[in-house]
Amino acid sequence: MMDTLPASSVRHSVSRRDALRLLGLAGTGAFLGSSLVRAADAAIADAPSLAGAQPGTYRFSIGTIEAIAFNDGGFAMPPADSPFGIGEPREKVAAALDAALVPTDKVRLPFNVLLVRLGAELVLFDTGSGPAFGPAGGRLLGQLEAAGIKPGQITGIIVTHMHGDHFGGLLDAQGEIVFKNAKVFMHRAEHAHWTAHGDANARKYLEAFAGKWQLIAGGEKLLGGLEIIEAFGHTPGHIMVGIHSGSDSLLHLVDVVHNHVLSFAHPEWVMKFDAQSDTAIATRKAVLERCAADRSRVFGYHMPFPSLGRVRRAGAAYEYVIEPWVSA
Ligand SMILES: [Zn+2]
Repeated sequence: MMDTLPASSVRHSVSRRDALRLLGLAGTGAFLGSSLVRAADAAIADAPSLAGAQPGTYRFSIGTIEAIAFNDGGFAMPPADSPFGIGEPREKVAAALDAALVPTDKVRLPFNVLLVRLGAELVLFDTGSGPAFGPAGGRLLGQLEAAGIKPGQITGIIVTHMHGDHFGGLLDAQGEIVFKNAKVFMHRAEHAHWTAHGDANARKYLEAFAGKWQLIAGGEKLLGGLEIIEAFGHTPGHIMVGIHSGSDSLLHLVDVVHNHVLSFAHPEWVMKFDAQSDTAIATRKAVLERCAADRSRVFGYHMPFPSLGRVRRAGAAYEYVIEPWVSA
């Protein structure tokens, strides 16, 4: 009886029927024992699992500047538990995702780290979460190794702000400095804020580099190709960085935006991790308007990997346009 057959037998018989149909042999009993059909069955039964790690390295260029995007991991959470649209009815978050034709079961928050080569400098923009968030993050070192880059070859790190998904990779699980030859840069307002108000973890990281922080401010030009741009609100000293080469440029938005749908369709929404919400919203609106007007090429720490795209106006709000993956 069919209902007593084990599931694998049912699948086997369906597979055989489907295979016959595909071969144009349905109902041709004489061919039931052919080696061709047996091969089709064996292939369906024995194909290896496709599970495994995703690639997390993408090479590109900004003019003559070589760059790589690395994925460090990321978070995923149901829309109702997400940090977006605080104060809005929770179902509006899922509805906004649905309107953009993206899955509504999870809001994804990847961590993507940018590396650029500027002459003799290899500069990282943040460090991933390191050991701070367990298996959710901390893949940067493995990605660097896969790209043939040793931690000791990194000469500069722009710490855009003091949130664990951005600075956690500065130290390893034993509290040792990971990138031993890197200069570390942070906006002076960010350093001052976390020195005065940071929790124990933030202070541990600040103190690990005591006397070594190179404190920077908006408008400064660093390392021959980087422009520091103040974008306050997410944290009191949060920065973006412009990277320029000839007529080409890339604007690293960092955490002005956090989701490629929600931050653009609803820049006015309160985001839980924006420390100064009103300032962050004003910054987000101004930056998106400017990017749309300028057709700027942008990178975002939490955009879908490899985190490259552009911004366009969509009615009264905006839309993130993903830059196609280029293989050569
Ligand atoms: Zn972040």
